[in-house]
Amino acid sequence: MQTITDIKKMKSFIKEARKKGKTIGFVPTMGYLHSGHLSLVSAAKKSSDVVVVSIFVNPLQFGPKEDLKKYPRDLERDKKLLAPLGIDVIFSPTAEEMFPPDFSCYAEETKLSKGLCGKKRPGHFKGVITVVLKLFQIIKPDIAFFGAKDWQQQSIIRKKVKDFHLDVEINTLPTVREEDEVAMSSRNSYLSKKERKASRILYQTLCFIKEMAENDEKDIKKILKNAKKLLKSEPLFKLEYLEMVDPETLDPKDTADKPLVALIAGFIGKTRLIDNILIR
Ligand code: AMP
Repeated sequence: MQTITDIKKMKSFIKEARKKGKTIGFVPTMGYLHSGHLSLVSAAKKSSDVVVVSIFVNPLQFGPKEDLKKYPRDLERDKKLLAPLGIDVIFSPTAEEMFPPDFSCYAEETKLSKGLCGKKRPGHFKGVITVVLKLFQIIKPDIAFFGAKDWQQQSIIRKKVKDFHLDVEINTLPTVREEDEVAMSSRNSYLSKKERKASRILYQTLCFIKEMAENDEKDIKKILKNAKKLLKSEPLFKLEYLEMVDPETLDPKDTADKPLVALIAGFIGKTRLIDNILIR
């Protein structure tokens, strides 16, 4: 396993692998890895000859008041976690390498990114799809792996691949959870013991919604009203949004008569957490 920080070197590594006819699997991450990330890496390893994991805390996707500076970083720890998985390359460029001072081209999605997290974090998805487009150009993967945990993100990336005719298959894998079913997230490391316990309310609420919708309650307004009552039982949680939308178009729905995804975002203290669940 080698660590490459230089774009030129990364490209020539890929060129050599391609010459040998190898397939390339790619897992983009911001590091501080947990079992959720590692599940994507294992899937990449199964499907591809060469696996590249990028570790890059992308400044473009953080708002001015967000946690870019304090986002957890520990490359040595990440290397130790990745070593046993037999990957080929960690690509970990600096912010200057990816975004030199004269950088001026961005990719933008204009529909799926309008609601949910996109509404609360203006510019976030522009930052995400710009960096992912750059990473796809550098690594030229056959398959790239994303987590269902960031449902809106994987929807937008799928749309970008379609709209820009990119030659990469997107594979979305289920959310990996802690023992108490809280979704694994690098940001969980910010939570105090009390906050960590309170964070269970996100998935509890999503399960409540799923159960109601799958037990024949079709009125989404009614489902969401009841779910919000449940959320009030956790005073540490401050809701940002709770929505039930079409899994592909992300359009909000009134009736639970087709497959849906319920998504939640909110704050516990200063930590912003998200989660989602698929319904039928
Ligand atoms: P991040 O490092 O948070 O940018 O995440 C990198 C990738 O890992 C994204 O595709 C995420 O959706 C995915 N991911 C993050 N948390 C989880 C999780 N708990 N289960 C599965 N995938 C995850």
